[in-house]
Amino acid sequence: MGLQRRKHREREPNYKLIYTLNGYSLVNPLGTGAFGKVHKCVSVETKQTVALKSVKRWTGEKEVAMLEKLRTLDKDTANLIKFNRHFEFAGFLTLEFEMLDMDLHQFVKCFSRPLQLCEVQVIVQQMLVALSALKSVRVVHTDIKPDNIMLINHEQLPFKVKLIDFGLAHSTSDMSIGSKHQATLYRAPEVLLGLPLHEGVDMWSLGCVAAFLYLGKHLYPSRCEHERVRDTVQLHGLPGEHLLNSGVYTKQYFKKDEEFPSSSWRINETCRCPKGLPKRRTHGPYQRKFIFHRLSSLDDIVKTFPETSGNEEAFVSLLNEMMAVDASERITPGKALMHPFISTGQSSSVSPISTDRSSSSSCLIKQDWDHEKEPVKAKTPLFKRICRFFRSRGQTISNQLLLNRKTPIA
Ligand SMILES: [Zn+2]
Repeated sequence: MGLQRRKHREREPNYKLIYTLNGYSLVNPLGTGAFGKVHKCVSVETKQTVALKSVKRWTGEKEVAMLEKLRTLDKDTANLIKFNRHFEFAGFLTLEFEMLDMDLHQFVKCFSRPLQLCEVQVIVQQMLVALSALKSVRVVHTDIKPDNIMLINHEQLPFKVKLIDFGLAHSTSDMSIGSKHQATLYRAPEVLLGLPLHEGVDMWSLGCVAAFLYLGKHLYPSRCEHERVRDTVQLHGLPGEHLLNSGVYTKQYFKKDEEFPSSSWRINETCRCPKGLPKRRTHGPYQRKFIFHRLSSLDDIVKTFPETSGNEEAFVSLLNEMMAVDASERITPGKALMHPFISTGQSSSVSPISTDRSSSSSCLIKQDWDHEKEPVKAKTPLFKRICRFFRSRGQTISNQLLLNRKTPIA
């Protein structure tokens, strides 16, 4: 392990040197992933603050090719991150992007609160515009999750967001049956079952994101694919017979009575995947976590957190259409933009969130959140920066959280 770690460290490039030699000064790291690293930097020439993402050359080339496909789109209108340029150095490809604020996962975690329906609406609307733009150039993002949706500048442009990270994006025509895409918790049923794939996989994930923002928890708290399939069956019912009959992975999760081939599919109750072993022999008996145990259908989401915005019915209606198990019945971005949840009760500007804390009575905080929420862990550099920011204003983060329990963030 020690040796492996040392080898890994040896492979780690000297980012500061790479950036300096290419005309940037490194400010601080922003994030690390399987893909590589992202740093906040300042261009020496333009004095502009940018985000530099350094990845291995071969993965970077795929991402650059995909970003080039998006060149024709207006990134500000389409709510997509701006890609400026890229350069190669010492086997690494560095991509320069516009600098954004924080992602939605960090936002929900740091501010320790789920979003109000009016806030969810604004974000979903912008992401539907993004999906519509991607569909127009036949690109599937395949990794829509709260971590990949970033606030542009929460202070100045509340809840204005952009979609980031096209490292796993595909052309629609390249989505082959049985190929694996998406983070497990945000994975569409057709990916799980091994059915034909298209841009509808992004719509499913966006539905999961909307639910996450509203609940403050992942909709599917599943530990593995098998649990994901079981959770999907619990909330949506058994997938149609025609889907199960043609899915290349159906038999991993479902069984039929061998003697009666015409019988219906049934879900395997226990999973014996490596994630369930060795601490527990299996995942069963089924343990549903957090708020999930109170949901028997998507409609229950709004019953769990009663609000008074009057828009709950429309929210659940859109959610059901975004998360239709049969991808051929799933709503398209264009139609979703005309859905009453999006088209009514919202101004055309992207800043309907009032900056006046006293005018927020229509957005009541979800009562169950307080005793369901996990303690805030001050472990990320970003979290520390936020704490420092509030301290510099003479507030503590907990003061700020208290404020936010009563009102949306201004
Ligand atoms: Zn499992």
